[in-house]
Amino acid sequence: MLSLQKYDIQYVKGIGPQRAKLLGSELGLHTAFDLLRHYPTSYIDRSTTYNIRSLHGATGEFPMLQLRGRFVSFNVVGEGAAMRLVGLFTDGTATIDCVWFKGVREQRKRLATGREYVLFGKPGYFREQLQMTHPEVDPPETADSAPGVRAVYPLTEKLRQRNFGSRQLHAAIVGFLQSHTHPFRDTLPPSVVRAAGLMSLDEAIRTVHMPTSPDRLERARQRLKFEELFYIQTDILMRSRERKAQVQGYIMPRVGQWFNDFYHNCLPFELTGAQKRVIKEIRADIMSGRQMNRLVQGDVGSGKTLVALMSMLLAIDNGYQACLMAPTEILATQHYETISSLASKIGLNVKLLTGSTRVKQRRIIDEGLRDGAIHILVGTHAVIEDKVVFRNLGFAVIDEQHRFGVAQRARLWKKSQVPPHVLVMTATPIPRTLAMTVYGDLDVSVIDELPPGRKPVSTVLRFDEQREQVNAGIMAQLRAGHQVYIVYPLVDENEKLDLRSVTEGFETAAHTFSPYSVALVHGKMRPADKDESMQLFASGKASILVATTVIEVGVNVPNATTMVIENAERFGLSQLHQLRGRVGRGADRSFCILMSKHKISADTRKRLELMTSTTDGFVIAEADMEMRGPGDIEGTAQSGLPFDLKIANLARDGQIIGMARRAAEALLDADPALAAPENRYFATALGQALSRNTDWSRIS
Ligand code: ADP
Ligand code: MG
Repeated sequence: MLSLQKYDIQYVKGIGPQRAKLLGSELGLHTAFDLLRHYPTSYIDRSTTYNIRSLHGATGEFPMLQLRGRFVSFNVVGEGAAMRLVGLFTDGTATIDCVWFKGVREQRKRLATGREYVLFGKPGYFREQLQMTHPEVDPPETADSAPGVRAVYPLTEKLRQRNFGSRQLHAAIVGFLQSHTHPFRDTLPPSVVRAAGLMSLDEAIRTVHMPTSPDRLERARQRLKFEELFYIQTDILMRSRERKAQVQGYIMPRVGQWFNDFYHNCLPFELTGAQKRVIKEIRADIMSGRQMNRLVQGDVGSGKTLVALMSMLLAIDNGYQACLMAPTEILATQHYETISSLASKIGLNVKLLTGSTRVKQRRIIDEGLRDGAIHILVGTHAVIEDKVVFRNLGFAVIDEQHRFGVAQRARLWKKSQVPPHVLVMTATPIPRTLAMTVYGDLDVSVIDELPPGRKPVSTVLRFDEQREQVNAGIMAQLRAGHQVYIVYPLVDENEKLDLRSVTEGFETAAHTFSPYSVALVHGKMRPADKDESMQLFASGKASILVATTVIEVGVNVPNATTMVIENAERFGLSQLHQLRGRVGRGADRSFCILMSKHKISADTRKRLELMTSTTDGFVIAEADMEMRGPGDIEGTAQSGLPFDLKIANLARDGQIIGMARRAAEALLDADPALAAPENRYFATALGQALSRNTDWSRIS
């Protein structure tokens, strides 16, 4: 199999140099190996032809399906970028519109009315009209030559326009497989294939492209998914075993004066059971002699800061310094203020270092860090710059994992001879299966309990028609002296439009809620202006904050009781949950109003209604993963799998992740360096998989 990595795709029959170039630039396929590993995303049954009338009035999503009939007419409508070709197609039972946005002229030339065609595509509704965009259109002769179950491949529009569709790709792959009858050598260790009862690679590759039965197809897909997840688990485990074997950690056995003083004299409330448990877990880590790398997950408001502070006090009790980093200046400042005020009675020396720290103050900090007078340094990325030198940094806390990658953590290590213990805190509730994979090299603790007395945020879904009622509710909160967030989406593709709606929203709010003052923050503002607006709101000088998702992480304004989320349908569930966590932080009842257009799909409605029915971050995260796939979950994209998954799905293949994890453990127990002869081919394949797709920019 690995030798196919040298087989240039242009020599595969049915491809040739031109298409090879296109497949390379569009899909990253360069070799026969790539081609065989370009798995189908679905399969279609070409033995069934649907009748159009049966599609009318159907709800839910349509699969790819086949129709047979004739075009009645063709019309070119719209102009410029909106120009499209609409072909009215009928099979005698009903009609459907076929629409082409691209290649309008070519399609018009290629297709004729009155002649019989077989159509293949995914129907959908547009303005209540049944239509199929860019269907595959074949004369019956060609269509009939490929009956039975056919694989459908992920492709790009450009390839389709160049007349290289799923069918052509399938034909090329099948041709190649048929001319290579020699079995592909297995890329998993034989012991693993045996123990897990997997299909061989050769059979799996052939079956996935040319299924002979649903059962065998399922087994082939399982095998290929297992392989991907097994590679990832093996990689993660090897790295973490190596780290644990080699990397020494500071030993911090003492619970001393600082911790006890704080615990007895400064703690304004009883710790929750979960907070106590996590502090114990951290204590066990820092006494073990190995470097701690621990992720603490805790829903918004679960009291992570306190856990971080008390862990840092343990380090200080053992003679070390500690630091805490946050992704933004605002958050760093907030942490600094919280910690200073909590610990004010015990004389802890806490300093704040950010990009805007003045030179004079910076000198004081430098000195305090070097001579050890500073106990805790709170700050932004500025803390990990090389010029920041500690006397003996023993413990580092990183708040909000997803803005800090592996590379940044690595930089921390260089700050002292022995790497400091690292505690990463995140409010993004990550389902266990995902945590095992994405954060596989971290141990995980969960704060699964909120401090007592929290009132859950009441969440409602409202539509644009109910705007006046919503505004009246906001006004009542303002009159009661509370503050309000109004949040707008900001999505890259629509950046300009989105910016316009947030600035318009700002003006509308200023007008509607006059005389209350309104501040505006969005990601395109200068950092100084952004900070100024945030400060206005945090200090209570502004009653309303109109913002994009820049406020998502960690901002704490307990007097803000209401959050309105505009175009809520455009946010992911986890994102909505994070946003909502900004309210309900004080003693007063609080509200989250999800505003949406009236016309939303059933799925979207289900998503939004889930938000109104639960405030449990884990329930929401699981649902989000089910619905959107893990790639979309905030934070996971950057935290970096070693390579892109082609067939496995972290959301749905939890069981296989578990299997792969156990198999990788067993393999490494038996052969830690993968040096045994029977594992060498696998070791090479693993090495190549890891080097092929590593995009370092994603990991840092
Ligand atoms: P997050 O986990 O979202 O970072 P914070 O650490 O900011 O949460 O804590 C949220 C609020 O809860 C803070 O005002 C904090 O003082 C308070 N808090 C933390 N732990 C407790 C506790 N055990 N009992 C009551 N309030 C607590
Ligand atoms: Mg926090």
